[in-house]
Amino acid sequence: MTEQTPSTLPAGAMPEVEHCARCDHHWLTRRGFCPRCGAPDTQMETVSGTAEVHAVTVVHRAVQESAIGPAPYRIVLAKLEACPEVTVMALAPEPLEIGDAVRITRHGATGAPYLAQPA
Ligand SMILES: [Zn+2]
Repeated sequence: MTEQTPSTLPAGAMPEVEHCARCDHHWLTRRGFCPRCGAPDTQMETVSGTAEVHAVTVVHRAVQESAIGPAPYRIVLAKLEACPEVTVMALAPEPLEIGDAVRITRHGATGAPYLAQPA
C-alpha cells in the first residue's frame, strides 16, 4: 500500500493530521516525530473537515491566479473541530466571516492545498 501524505491526498479528501499518542498532540504537516515531546512513534489520522473560521484575508491583487481562479479570492485560517490546535490555511470560493462553520477538504497538490466551504 502506498503511504499518503497531505500532498498526495485526492481532491475532496478529508484533512489528514499526524498524532502523538504520548502527549496527544496533533499537527498538519507530516514530520515523523512529535514537535512537542519529540516522540518518534506517531500516526497519521484522517479527521472530519468540520472547522471554524479563525481569520479571513481577501486577496485583491495577486502575482498569479490562485487554484480557484483570479483575484479577488479569499484565504482563511480555520481551526479543525477534531483537533483545535491544528489551523488549516484554505482557499474559500465563497465569502466567509470569522466564526463561520466550514468544511475543509483537500483541493489540490500544490499552493494552498485545502478548500473551505460553508458547512
Ligand atoms: Zn508528543
